[in-house]
Amino acid sequence: MALNCHAKKVVAVFKIQHLSSLPKSGFFILSGGSNVILPEQLDATVIMPRLMGMQVLEENQDTVIIEVGAGENWHDLVVSCTQKGWYGLENLVMIPGLVGAAPVQNIGAYGVSLQEVLVGVKAYRLSTAKHYYIKNAQCQFGYRSSIFKQAKELLITSVLLRLHKNSQKVCADYADLQPLLADKPISPLAVMQAVSNVRRQKLPNPDELPNCGSFFQNPLIDKKSFETLKQTHQAPHYVVDNNTVKVPAAWLIDRAGLKGGGVAPILTHKSHALVLTNHAPHLATQKNIKLSQDFIIKMVKDAFGIVLVREPVWVFEDGSCECLSQSVQEVCLP
Ligand code: NAP
Repeated sequence: MALNCHAKKVVAVFKIQHLSSLPKSGFFILSGGSNVILPEQLDATVIMPRLMGMQVLEENQDTVIIEVGAGENWHDLVVSCTQKGWYGLENLVMIPGLVGAAPVQNIGAYGVSLQEVLVGVKAYRLSTAKHYYIKNAQCQFGYRSSIFKQAKELLITSVLLRLHKNSQKVCADYADLQPLLADKPISPLAVMQAVSNVRRQKLPNPDELPNCGSFFQNPLIDKKSFETLKQTHQAPHYVVDNNTVKVPAAWLIDRAGLKGGGVAPILTHKSHALVLTNHAPHLATQKNIKLSQDFIIKMVKDAFGIVLVREPVWVFEDGSCECLSQSVQEVCLP
């Protein structure tokens, strides 16, 4: 969000051997910084994992298992794998940030989420100086959530992914992708290009207009109580399971009259209401963001009886942070 932040000390880690020299407490682990909201003063040692490299662990004619360092750029990894004919990541192109952050919120886009390709995660617990291998099933993956959201003392060092080589196997269902794929043979490369184009059209470039992507999670709503809302609003929704539907947060914000709105200088983006943008880079503070966030939450709650939950990580002065996970909620119209 381009907020000014003064940290006590910053340490970048380039080698596994350097992990043992890191502090055991009083730290804050910062990956690419694209999904965090920082305070003006950070009284903690900021640790930046910059462990690089990619190696093939196993390969056959159908699949390949790769291990990728936490410091690699996520988008570059997606492009390079897709170009190599290793598929499964193409829908996740242009998600900002580094590989090590991807499992934390189980990044997902256009019908694919990381948990579908992740084999496991290698991590280091700073407090005990121990290395761990955490298998997919142990990561407690959910919709934009994982065990890593709570286990903040774990520094992810690398991520293992299983990719496939079948160019016919793609996920191209999302409505936004359809017009871009209409006249072409569908392939992972075509899907990657379509997703890139949609993202370029819809999302502001953080280098030009500071933002941290989607600011709110798409709410999960109890299906029965959603019927109440449907009586008065034609809200779009997607079935998650027998009891739950997912409602686009962008639609709720837009219909609450807040597209381009909020509390200045933190305003929702004119072409995508889910993205909060900072119109006073390096001047706005966490306080400004909180004012705008709370205003949007209140307006949406008053209009639809749905409580939006913030997606980015909120960092406090002592380096502790708040990662919110949502649970299925009922519509509570006033
Ligand atoms: P969008 O495509 O306008 O979709 C809005 C909401 O509708 C999302 O909750 C999306 O589900 C859902 N949706 C749309 N088409 C669907 C379908 N065919 N089946 C099931 N659900 C459907 O969303 P957007 O804000 O422009 O973002 C585009 C994509 O990037 C979305 O998939 C979004 O989740 C993803 N994204 C992810 C992150 C992250 O990982 N933190 C951040 C920003 C955006 P899903 O959320 O399940 O896709």
